[in-house]
Amino acid sequence: MEFNGVNFDTYFKNYPNEEGFFGKYGGAYVSPELKKAMEEIAEAYFTICKSAKFIAELRRIRKDFQGRPTPISHLERLSNKLGNVQIYVKREDLNHTGAHKLNHCMGEALLAKYMGKKKVIAETGAGQHGVALATAAAYFGLECDIYMGSVDIKKQAPNVARMKILGANVIEVTEGLQTLKEAVDAAFAAYVREYKDAIYCIGSVLGPHPFPMMVRDFQSVVGIEAREQFVGMTGELPDAVVACVGGGSNAMGIFSGFLNDPVDIYGVEPLGRGEKLGDHAASLKYGEEGIMHGFNSIMLKGEDGEPAPVYSVASGLDYPSSGPEHAFLHDLGRVKYDVVNDEETIDAFFELSRLEGIIPAIESAHAVAYAIKLAKKMGKGSILVNLSGRGDKDMDYIIEKYGIR
Ligand SMILES: *Cc1c(COP(=O)(O)O)cnc(C)c1O
Repeated sequence: MEFNGVNFDTYFKNYPNEEGFFGKYGGAYVSPELKKAMEEIAEAYFTICKSAKFIAELRRIRKDFQGRPTPISHLERLSNKLGNVQIYVKREDLNHTGAHKLNHCMGEALLAKYMGKKKVIAETGAGQHGVALATAAAYFGLECDIYMGSVDIKKQAPNVARMKILGANVIEVTEGLQTLKEAVDAAFAAYVREYKDAIYCIGSVLGPHPFPMMVRDFQSVVGIEAREQFVGMTGELPDAVVACVGGGSNAMGIFSGFLNDPVDIYGVEPLGRGEKLGDHAASLKYGEEGIMHGFNSIMLKGEDGEPAPVYSVASGLDYPSSGPEHAFLHDLGRVKYDVVNDEETIDAFFELSRLEGIIPAIESAHAVAYAIKLAKKMGKGSILVNLSGRGDKDMDYIIEKYGIR
């Protein structure tokens, strides 16, 4: 299928290019030392990911350890309530550890093992990436250093406990505002020091090349499974596919199964409290081109040109940019990016729980909220939503802040 001059039959071969660019977005804007380390990872990945042994081992892990394939569920009661559009969800909440993040963490840690590394390094904000990576490290017997700001360590006590139980070292970062940005800097610095024995593992389709490509490839299992399952269940393709976009890994996972199909694709960004800068994290909708954290993409900038402060009720979505491939698909028009706010999200959180017996992660509830709006607009047809994770981690916060609705 061709779309605005891009041939999607050969898309995954051509995007990104050798230097990691999706059009003008992506690349590796890092120090020479870090660039060398990234090139080593890219070279190893290109060799190893074609090896039958690596592919077979990853397949076995997905089935026997992660519990894949995750099912697709038809949301019959919700669909009936809304009218004639049938809504389906891909159940990444049933992936081991309760979200899609383990899909790329297991791939990254397996790559570390094949490269002969002894340690994985990462930063974490809300702790979800740290927990997924600590799980993968435990599985493979790798050391795991997770850098986390002091403020986040205090806020995310249950995830800190999980990481420690899984055997990870949680390293407190006391610089600056003591949150995600400082943790990223500390983790990069540690990686430059230790790159002979360690590999850096990014938590989304972000960062310098080859990470946006690698993480997409590892997440594409979601889209490949979902396409086959959906056609098996209904005999046809969905009319629309919807996913929430923070960095954009769960979205790239499911989108990659449908980019070459006549299917409308929607990425949902968090509008938070409203349209004012600082009240949301809708980078693709309101942002502009810029470089941060080692890659060129569309980002929210403050007056000083630095990444702007962002907000969302979902801590997994409050990032001032999105992966470079999303910026590319945005400009191309192949994927439409739209927003839902906190209120709509909380309503959808309770709606899905009450009508279907599925408590979604508050990130995933953004995608559900958008599907509810879209269903009313479409009037007929079908929508497939990527339910990126389960909501156990969010229950206390939602009850405290919003009460039972
Ligand atoms: C981290 C997280 C997200 C956001 O990350 P993406 O890379 O945008 O997918 C979404 N949903 C859940 C459940 C998460 O844990």
